[in-house]
Order: sequence, then structure tokens, then C-alpha cells
Amino acid sequence: MASRPDLPPVVRHVEEVRRQLEPLRAQGERIGFVPTMGALHPGHLSLVDVCSRECDATVVSIFVNPTQFGPNEDYEKYPRNLQKDLELLAPYGVDLVFAPEVEEIYPPGFGTYVEAQGVTEHWEGRSRPGHFRGVATVVTKLFLIVQPHVAYFGHKDYQQSVVIRQVVRDLNIPVEIRVCPTVREEDGLAWSSRNAYLSPEERQQALVLWQSLQLAQQLIHSGQQDPRTVLAQMKHLYDQHPAVRLDYVGLVDPDTLLPVERITGPVVALVAAWVGQTRLIDNLRIEPPH
Ligand code: AMP
Repeated sequence: MASRPDLPPVVRHVEEVRRQLEPLRAQGERIGFVPTMGALHPGHLSLVDVCSRECDATVVSIFVNPTQFGPNEDYEKYPRNLQKDLELLAPYGVDLVFAPEVEEIYPPGFGTYVEAQGVTEHWEGRSRPGHFRGVATVVTKLFLIVQPHVAYFGHKDYQQSVVIRQVVRDLNIPVEIRVCPTVREEDGLAWSSRNAYLSPEERQQALVLWQSLQLAQQLIHSGQQDPRTVLAQMKHLYDQHPAVRLDYVGLVDPDTLLPVERITGPVVALVAAWVGQTRLIDNLRIEPPH
């Protein structure tokens, strides 16, 4: 009978991460890093899978970062289950799981933040003030603690990946950023730790996010170049789902995240919507026909 793989070792303190990774670095091993907030699902695991294939050592962090949640957001109720996460990670041969307490990352007297300008102005940045400051700060700290050669992020949080690329570039952080495809459930709903909040009825309604992205893709693939027309049709779909409250839809330049005036090259369609009390985001990169 096949024995169950061992759980990965959990490290709670910064100094211990450094102590454990130092010999690997000295041996010239390529260290890959996957930062997460836990409540792991197949989206996270796809990043761990790619990381473990491409790197000699794989480090995963599990930290629900308080500074990226607004005062009325779901920090308190965000799902946490370290034991289950470790069991999910076991088959991937993860070398180290860094799961610090909040005080380890934000000790008393903490007062230095990383603020990326420009790409944080719209979309998630506008809807969730302070969110990207929290993300940029914690990811920078994690990069300095783990000092990976390469770090893996999901396309699912597209704006976040653009923000992190900017931070790494602006601050000369020596890490390669890899952005991996969004993993979806069979019916198209993007995996998210927040899907756990949805009732069965809401889960069904939530499909409109993916449907609206597919609609945008169909329209653009059939030659539609006017973003206003595409956005209007997407919004119309939400009108037919009164249980879903649209926050924003956008058709943006993949690098600047600014709305495009005309669809003549690749765009990213971005959506955010409330399904009941749960806020979901999704996106799709779309290439117009030649
Ligand atoms: P989180 O735990 O939500 O902070 O996400 C940790 C990482 O997993 C981020 O880089 C996310 O973009 C990525 N991620 C989350 N959901 C998915 C998904 N459905 N497919 C691919 N990557 C994902």
C-alpha cells in the first residue's frame, strides 16, 4: 500500500526561514516561492506544482495579511485551516511552509509600507483603498525574508501581478515573477478561497462573472473593436442577474491597466462583483483576430 507523503515542515519565524534556506542557496539551488493566504484550492496548488517542477526548492507562505484588508472586509472570517493546507501540499514535496503569526510580520513599532503608484489607481485599487499597499508591503517583506530566485502568482489576481511586477522593477528586487493561468472549476467559476462563502444558489449566480468574460471574448473574436459596445453587452448580462451587484467591468491594456479606446491588440477584461455578501473578481486576456 502506498504510504501517505509526509507533511511539509512548518516554520514560524523569519530567522528560522533564513537558517533553513541558507545552505540550499549556498549549494546553488534555485529557490521558488509561492505566497498565499491559505485555504488552499487547485488554483494555489497549480502554482505549487509549476514551482516544484521548475525549481530545486519550493517555499510556500501561508499568511492572512491583515494590512491588505479594509476595515469592513472579511479579515476575521477569512477561512483558515493550516492542517488541511499542509495535507494538500504534502504530495508536492514542498521544502518549507512559512506560516508566521501576525506579530512576526508586523511587530510592535512597525511603520514602513510599500506603495506602488499608477497601476494601483483603478479597479481593485479604487474599490479597496489601501489593499495594494498591504499587498505590496507583505510581498516585499516575504521576498526579503525568503529571497527566492523566482516567485509564482496567479493570473486570477491580474492587477496584483502587475503591481508586484512594478514593485520588483522599481525597487530592484532580484526575483523573477512568473504569472500562471487561472484555474477554474468545471463550469468556469475561478477557484477562490472566498467561494467557500457562497450558498448553493449564490454559487450558481456567480457564474455570470465567467459568462460575461466569455461574452467579451466572443464579441472581440468576431471583430468587435469598440470597447463601449463590449462593455455594454457585458453589463446587460449582469442586469439579468439581479442577485449579483456589479462593481466594475473594464477592458484594459495588459501593461498599464488603463481602459483601451479601441481593441486592436491584446486586452484584459476585468470584472468584480458582489454575490450576496461575497466580493468576487475574475479576468480574461483576449486577443483580437488578425
Ligand atoms: P491568495 O491566497 O488568494 O492570496 O492567492 C495566492 C496566489 O494564488 C495568488 O498569486 C493568486 O493569484 C493565486 N490564485 C488564486 N486563485 C487562483 C486561481 N483560481 N488560479 C490560479 N491562481 C490563483
